[in-house]
Amino acid sequence: MKKLINLVLISTFLLSGCSLLEANAKTNKDVTTIKHVVVAKEPDQGESPEVNDNTIFDPKGTISFSPLTYQSTKITITTIDRTENVSAINYHIWRTADGQESMKIFMSNQKENNYSFMFDTKEFLDKCGEFQVEAYGKLEDGREELLAKSAVTFQQHVPILMYHAIDEYKGEGLKDLFVTPANFEVQMRYLKDKGYTLLTFERWDEVNKVNKPILVTFDDGMKNNLNAFRILQELKDERFQPAATEYVIAGYIDSGSYRLSTEDIKEMVNSGIFSIQSHTMSHADLPKITNYEEELNASKEKIEQITGKPVIAIAYPFGHFNDKVVEETKKYYKFATTTKPGQFIEKGESDELLLMHRVRISNSTTINQFAALVESR
Ligand SMILES: [Zn+2]
Repeated sequence: MKKLINLVLISTFLLSGCSLLEANAKTNKDVTTIKHVVVAKEPDQGESPEVNDNTIFDPKGTISFSPLTYQSTKITITTIDRTENVSAINYHIWRTADGQESMKIFMSNQKENNYSFMFDTKEFLDKCGEFQVEAYGKLEDGREELLAKSAVTFQQHVPILMYHAIDEYKGEGLKDLFVTPANFEVQMRYLKDKGYTLLTFERWDEVNKVNKPILVTFDDGMKNNLNAFRILQELKDERFQPAATEYVIAGYIDSGSYRLSTEDIKEMVNSGIFSIQSHTMSHADLPKITNYEEELNASKEKIEQITGKPVIAIAYPFGHFNDKVVEETKKYYKFATTTKPGQFIEKGESDELLLMHRVRISNSTTINQFAALVESR
């Protein structure tokens, strides 16, 4: 049943958790100060024009987005450069992560403002991520025609969890670096039950296309990380596909019973769960060294020889870095994580992928604290 709701949306600026990076954006001064009269209706599959993505689409206009503040949760959508005469435009919008079945339709008849429409993520329960936008023009004979399609991204926060040892603490080493297997299992089960999507850096371009993106990372390549591997294997089912990143110290592989062996690493990679990335060759304090080729590049090549897969990410040992370290790191890596606390959000700043913050999980982290740390912002 069709339910029409008249909405008067007035441009107001609200700060919220979403941040905005535009796709295909242009500034349109005409649309920033007006009141937008918008008719929203629930999606009606029967009325939706069919779109066949396999056919080559010839656009008859351009969807543009404004204004552009990275923390926006709202955006003004217009359709410019139209080659068809239309009386109204129906914007079909859905969140990529939820699929086209989550589509809503918003009508604008603001011809004088290029059929502007103020889109608010509230329409999708304040969820962020990438949204697909299609503009259907209403022709004189009543037919609707697809004029243009585009996508716009409201950046999602991405927690990058940082673990070290997954084992009982037996009095050796720093206790806070040990998370017990039982606690780790409860934490991973929480992510599974709450619908998180575990990613690795290879799938970074999906962070805004999935629900609740999160990365699980381990530093130092310790043998007891096999406990984590087994737990993740057990949690795997059709709905939940575990993924994790192990930052190994390349020079320590096969160096004793506390460290992962070549065989361990191969098993982890072949499971499809683990991505093996670099933690340098010798756990070097990078701001104090000069042999970057060895620590950054030789470590990367050694790991790649074992796994047969590209190494694109590094964790700075001790979380130490400076401008020189970042410059050198950028020659070999696309991503680098620090130990600075917090979730990651893309702001469009230079080198931000080489200065990523992480969420430290320690021996004393309770499940309630864990939940608060990973909660979507
Ligand atoms: Zn380390």
